Amino acid sequence: MAKKVKVIVPGSDEGHLAEAVARLRARSTVAVLTGAGISVESGIPDFRSPGGLWTRFSPEEYATLDVFKRDPAKAWKLYRALGRSIEGVEPNAAHRALARLESAGSVAMVVTQNVDGLHQAAGSRKVIEMHGDHQHVQCVRCGWLGPVAPSHLVGDEVPLCAECSHPVKPNVVLFGEAVRGMGEISRCLDQCELLLVVGTSAQVYPAAGLPAQIESRGGLIYEFNVEETALTRGSVFGGSAQTDFFFRGKATITLPLLVDLFLEK
Ligand code: NAD
Ligand code: ZN
Repeated sequence: MAKKVKVIVPGSDEGHLAEAVARLRARSTVAVLTGAGISVESGIPDFRSPGGLWTRFSPEEYATLDVFKRDPAKAWKLYRALGRSIEGVEPNAAHRALARLESAGSVAMVVTQNVDGLHQAAGSRKVIEMHGDHQHVQCVRCGWLGPVAPSHLVGDEVPLCAECSHPVKPNVVLFGEAVRGMGEISRCLDQCELLLVVGTSAQVYPAAGLPAQIESRGGLIYEFNVEETALTRGSVFGGSAQTDFFFRGKATITLPLLVDLFLEK
């Protein structure tokens, strides 16, 4: 039977909120999946919205492993723009709400597609960065990892490996590279009864397929987004909606709303 998504709009329609809190309390193992939307209010634009990086640098043209290998100077134009958008930013109330939930013992794992390090900066400890991180550069020839330096983000020289002098790339997963931590993510989700999905358009695989792993075992999906997505509308895999509770609005409002009520004993 098709699922009916329960919508919660802070301040105007919180009818389903008490039920969402009660059902969260009843579940012992909760995982979190985040995307670019959770960091938008920290000042990092997501990729797809107007002004986002994909509107300036098409992914096929700049973000593949092949492009880096063929023309690292061109690929670094995108990496520099991404690095500069992340430089100096701070976590926001949504990152902090997740860290508080973890401190209370209620989060098994935060799986993030983001490369900005803001979950860790907010105090989350069990974070898996499935698309890598932008705090390090990585040598694809010898595996060397070093910190991203401010000098990498200015000028137009391609940074080189300290060990073998090969051009390095940021330690982010490019199209054409395998995502990180899938085994660990999958084992964790197999134990989880509820998934909080925050600020992801659910268009990038394999992240977009993770909610199905929880849902197929009868787990619950709480989604936090400013607009409906493939999970809410039900177009992932062409099936019906996967979301049980849809918190519509900015994640800095909706996540603290849920977490504050949950932690209030
Ligand atoms: P996306 O850009 O495809 O989707 C972002 C989603 O966030 C959208 O559904 C949008 O409606 C929603 N959103 C925007 N503002 C929001 C807010 N204030 N509160 C709640 N939701 C909000 O992002 P994605 O699904 O993460 O996929 C894009 C890829 O780009 C990812 O692989 C990620 O690695 C990368 N990326 C990372 C960063 C970062 O590290 N901060 C930034 C941009 C892109
Ligand atoms: Zn090297």
